[in-house]
Amino acid sequence: MANQDHNPFAMAQRQLDEAAKILKLEPHVHEFLRWPMREFHVRIPVRMDDGSVKIFEGFRVQYNDARGPTKGGIRFHPQETLDTVRALAAWMTWKTAVMDLPLGGGKGGVVCNPKEMSERELEALSRGYIRALGHYIGPDIDVPAPDVYTNPQIMAWMMDEYVKMKGEYEPGVITGKPLPLGGSAGRLDATARGGVYAVREAAKVLGLDLKGATCAIQGYGNAGQFAHKLAAEILGMKVVAVSDSKGGIYNPEGLPYGEVLEFKRENGTVVGFPGAQAISNAELLELDVVVLFPAALENQITEENADRIKAKIVAELANGPTTPEADVILHQRGVYVIPDFLCNAGGVTVSYFEQVQNAYNFYWPDKEVYQRLDEKMTAAFHAVHEAARSYNVHNRLGAYVVAVSRVVEAMKLRGWV
Ligand code: GLU
Repeated sequence: MANQDHNPFAMAQRQLDEAAKILKLEPHVHEFLRWPMREFHVRIPVRMDDGSVKIFEGFRVQYNDARGPTKGGIRFHPQETLDTVRALAAWMTWKTAVMDLPLGGGKGGVVCNPKEMSERELEALSRGYIRALGHYIGPDIDVPAPDVYTNPQIMAWMMDEYVKMKGEYEPGVITGKPLPLGGSAGRLDATARGGVYAVREAAKVLGLDLKGATCAIQGYGNAGQFAHKLAAEILGMKVVAVSDSKGGIYNPEGLPYGEVLEFKRENGTVVGFPGAQAISNAELLELDVVVLFPAALENQITEENADRIKAKIVAELANGPTTPEADVILHQRGVYVIPDFLCNAGGVTVSYFEQVQNAYNFYWPDKEVYQRLDEKMTAAFHAVHEAARSYNVHNRLGAYVVAVSRVVEAMKLRGWV
């Protein structure tokens, strides 16, 4: 993740700098937006199964709350750094703004390897994170959610710990919860679903027919798995390659979703799936497919491989998969990028719906969630597409123009700048 060449926060700041130029932001407004408004750095003691106590390092960054409470997931990852969390919190700010949700942006992280921890240790760490930060979050302050290597069960433990601290039931403090605890229908596959709706709209403006067209998916976590299912189900696409952190598989005839998922559940990886060729993650990115979904981590498409990307549409379900240098190369080569904070915004959009339902204590059927999500994604997609065209810039900058203007407008109305 964070390394010296591609520090994600430096990358997020450079992206903002470009947008600031186009929008002619006043220097003090630009400076304010380059940094988080608040950051927490905590130590979390956890009693491990062998009886020892291990101290974990955790972060929560509340980047900007001009438009509403900060919102964003919590990552559990061995290579988590403060700068990664800052970058992700900045992108959440632009994500909620581009979707026109009444929220700001934040992000959390814990340096740990959940793959090497027992269920009990994970529960203790999740509760410890909330004990450390519970006084600084809340439905009207800052609302966490799942991200890389965190899931609905972890959200349930965190919500429970918060409720115990507060002494009242307040499920809206966290989203991505299991359904019986105030989760929303449609939240589990929302990130992929939103991305698939965005791809559908991109195909319309590009005049592409997606039925039977090929696609490749890098990453087989929540976003990647459901992209496999929904690209086939909603768009009728043929998924020819998928990968996870251990490697990838390729079959030009297509990969069946249910069987690949079953295989991954049994073996912990997609690698070795019968009847498919083994390929590396790097090779997957360069396949000659119509749509490429990067759905893993940051810094996957760089100046090193951008001129070999053959996809017509790059739909970024991951956060930060493409570097600023690569953005320029892809744009010059006519690759249509649906930028991360638009493409993967389905997750936070349904998180917002979840909060609304929690506040009403009244729950919507999945069809209503899908339809509202579709309306939001479609509107945001076209706002970004139009901005990119009218400023004659690539789509990521188009998305920045839309999002940053909205955040600046809110800051001005509140009298901050
Ligand atoms: N972690 C997801 C994201 O990066 C979801 C955030 C949320 O639901 O608050 O957008």
